[in-house]
Amino acid sequence: MVEGEAGRSATDPQLLISLWIYGYSKGVSAAREISRLCEYDPAYQWLGGLEVINYHTLSDFRVKHKEALDGLLIEVLGLLSAEGLISLERGLHDGWKVKGGGGGDRFGGEGGIGGHLELAREQVEQMGDPGTAEEVSPRVAKARQRAVREKQERLELALKEMEKIRATKSSKAEKAEVRVSMTDPEARVMKQSDGGYAPSYNVQISTDAKEKVIVGVEVSQCGSDYGELVPAEEKVEETMGRAPEQMVTDGGFVSRENILALKDKGIDFIGPMGEGVSQSAGQMKRRGVDPSFYPEVFHYDAVRDTYRCPAGKSLRPHGEEKRPGRTNYQYRASAVDCQRCIFKEKCCPQNTTMGRTIVRGIDDPAVAAHKEKMETEEAKQIYRQRGTVAEFPNAWIKEKIGLRQFRLRGLMKVGMEILWACLSYNIQQWIRLCWRPRWA
Ligand code: SF4
Repeated sequence: MVEGEAGRSATDPQLLISLWIYGYSKGVSAAREISRLCEYDPAYQWLGGLEVINYHTLSDFRVKHKEALDGLLIEVLGLLSAEGLISLERGLHDGWKVKGGGGGDRFGGEGGIGGHLELAREQVEQMGDPGTAEEVSPRVAKARQRAVREKQERLELALKEMEKIRATKSSKAEKAEVRVSMTDPEARVMKQSDGGYAPSYNVQISTDAKEKVIVGVEVSQCGSDYGELVPAEEKVEETMGRAPEQMVTDGGFVSRENILALKDKGIDFIGPMGEGVSQSAGQMKRRGVDPSFYPEVFHYDAVRDTYRCPAGKSLRPHGEEKRPGRTNYQYRASAVDCQRCIFKEKCCPQNTTMGRTIVRGIDDPAVAAHKEKMETEEAKQIYRQRGTVAEFPNAWIKEKIGLRQFRLRGLMKVGMEILWACLSYNIQQWIRLCWRPRWA
């Protein structure tokens, strides 16, 4: 019995779970569609006990029981583990951007959203009692009222999300440019695999290498993958009760912070790392430095611990900056040398009071060891497996389950949607690998 509700749902939760898992496995993810199929499709009729299940019941059940569904995933993983289908010797992790919005999308800035919100509030105020509406039936009038209220709530949420995004921007111009989806305000604009941009969520999936079973799933609003690896590993520990011995990712997850974090947990991390020069070409360009005066042309003298510039002048040590996994040592030329130099306009045009600075980054020993390891044939061979294992569940969920865009809206609900899809995928893996007909 639940407070505020008439009583226990008349429909057995096991039956609803079966219908949703079966529906997802067949690429059917709409509550109305499943309700309709219960009327005539023998498989749905059998699962539904020959009853037609109201689509509201199905729809509410899908998003209302997060804790129970997490528990069900853990139970299924326990079963798969007992069958010897999970070893946790190697976990492969990947992220994938899934469009949000529940179909279609409209963006707005503060003014645009505010205008729509005012209109929605007026409509809500003008709405009378649905039972007294003359032109349409009370049922239709009630549905319309609900739609207008939901729209108002969505627009109010869009303004709140806009504030959250603005808080992450540093300049006034960037803050003024923020646009939010009015259809799904919690989605964030992310780069897609086809190069385009769309309001999306970042789905993070960890897969055990042994039989490609999903051992962890999360959804985030962050477009970049760097910050998602440690939470993903923690999720695997939460669902499996222990950490994977090794984690394999693409370069999008490899940062010095992540190398150190996984090392501290005793996890072997395999993933290629970009060189990440301390002073990037982008920085040089912004400072107006000519490519013929980029840091690579400055010669480092290890004995004297100084740099020599193209004009033959010395750049001496000028402090250091410690960062996670790296220490940046600064070297600076004398201001007098640079002000008098004939190359100044090409070398450091924006410097008015000081000489040119060069940064020499030295990696933490753990980061240096990671780079060395990634040069070995063994690491390269392990990394080559990544695509076939880590991308397998993503491809299955897209192709077989048909989840290319979220049907639901909002971070919590899309999290539930992907959880159902992963649960369905794991059960299908179990059937594919273990289930045999009794007469076989
Ligand atoms: S501007 Fe300064 S650092 Fe650059 S070449 Fe001239 S003396 Fe060397």
